[in-house]
Amino acid sequence: MSNNRGLDHDEKLLFEVGDISKTGVDLPDPENIKNMLGSSCSDTEIGLAGLSEPETLRHYVRLSRKNYSIDAGLYPLGSCTMKHNPRLNEKMARLEGFSEIHPLQPISTCQGALELIDLISTWLKELTGMAAITMTPKAGAQGELCGMMAIKQALIFKKESHRKVVLVPDSAHGTNPATAAFLGFDVRTIKSTQEGLIDFEDFKENIDEHFAGVMITNPNTCGLFESDIVKISELTHKSGGYLYCDGANFNAVVGKLKPGDLGIDAMHINLHKTFSTPHGGGGPGSGPVVFSKRLENFCPTPLVKKINGKYDLIENLDNKELSNSFGRLNVFHGQMGMFVRAMSYMLSHGSDGLRQVAEDAVLNANYLRESLSMHLTPAFQGYCMHEILFSDEFLSDTNVETLDFAKAMIDEGYHPMTIYFPLVIHGALLVEPTETESKQSLDHFIETLKGLVARVKNDSDSFKEAPIFTPIRRLDETQAARKPILRWREEVPAKA
Ligand SMILES: *Cc1c(COP(=O)(O)O)cnc(C)c1O
Repeated sequence: MSNNRGLDHDEKLLFEVGDISKTGVDLPDPENIKNMLGSSCSDTEIGLAGLSEPETLRHYVRLSRKNYSIDAGLYPLGSCTMKHNPRLNEKMARLEGFSEIHPLQPISTCQGALELIDLISTWLKELTGMAAITMTPKAGAQGELCGMMAIKQALIFKKESHRKVVLVPDSAHGTNPATAAFLGFDVRTIKSTQEGLIDFEDFKENIDEHFAGVMITNPNTCGLFESDIVKISELTHKSGGYLYCDGANFNAVVGKLKPGDLGIDAMHINLHKTFSTPHGGGGPGSGPVVFSKRLENFCPTPLVKKINGKYDLIENLDNKELSNSFGRLNVFHGQMGMFVRAMSYMLSHGSDGLRQVAEDAVLNANYLRESLSMHLTPAFQGYCMHEILFSDEFLSDTNVETLDFAKAMIDEGYHPMTIYFPLVIHGALLVEPTETESKQSLDHFIETLKGLVARVKNDSDSFKEAPIFTPIRRLDETQAARKPILRWREEVPAKA
């Protein structure tokens, strides 16, 4: 048997497909080249898999067919904002002046790229109502690190390094407490209320002379707007701390609300979520951070500035503006390709279009909520923002668990939603449709989920088998995470 399914091939690793004795190219031996490697020169095999061009192409095309993507279908992964990536953005990112530049080339030769960085900086500051920005962080998580480093730097400057406690709500994304802990802060968890919001009383009680700041996601990971945010920011500032906002959910409010107006001091923006640059599979992301007036002097270098009609990168710490900066966060200037895509997205939407993004994202999530609330169990009462959180209560009295339900969705052609996050809800299912799904597409998704819920009642055992149509069935995800096999080793046939 072939192990192929339908027209999908069972693809082996490159090392298993190729053969070191084979080569895909045929180059003449170089003439008259003086070998300067001396005794470092080696002409033994280096063990790379040799493949012809068609073999190489087929390998990667087959692999790509196994990959679920936003281009293939609805991708309801909550907290991740998997929206359509407009092809116009791709076209712009491929313009030679952007795609072929090198971060070390003379500044006089990449003025257009710097102008674009300056332009996107202006847009992002305007959309967030913040005073300063750094474009270099490479993803949301590094943006958090950057924002919290600025906060740490501000505390050092004020000679308040005894402020060591960072408060983080129990609904937070894991990167929030991890970031604070990585920087040497003591993380203290604050509780959520029955309504899925920060418990303001618990927040208040946890503030003492060691309070450095609080990290809040707004809208939060329960898909709800933290309505006490202004009260929280006022108390934070009065108590000598800083308010960091995880901006991963900016899609719900972009164009509608300026985080700066809420008293936020630093916030990362995931360009690969809100501003449609492609993500998944680990990158490339981009997580610019905006800063309030209170933190603007503490952000990292470099600054992009126009001086006498020419753009320049300012990074000498002797410079007055930078005297309190914590220096460079990254070697270079950020993810240029992502900047171009995000800028193209913003300009093609315009300010009215960006506002509509938020409105339609929230509308779509609430349409799912209304349509499914009799079938799955909404975790909270009332409207949600751009994502809807369900608990596993609809699975109680059955032997089907959230994981089984998610796996069964794969057999129905849907990538599962985010599951078991946030941790505050038992067996959580977090669904984010995004604004780019049509009503027709949402209706199909709704009917599919309703069908699965109906099946839970009368054929629950089938869920334990799912997925049955994928090349690989249930993986041992715990073992895969704990004991990843990262290196290929040739299988030596067992001796008879
Ligand atoms: C995605 C996400 C992050 C991390 O962002 P990355 O760009 O993946 O590093 C942090 N917090 C929340 C709430 C997120 O959804």
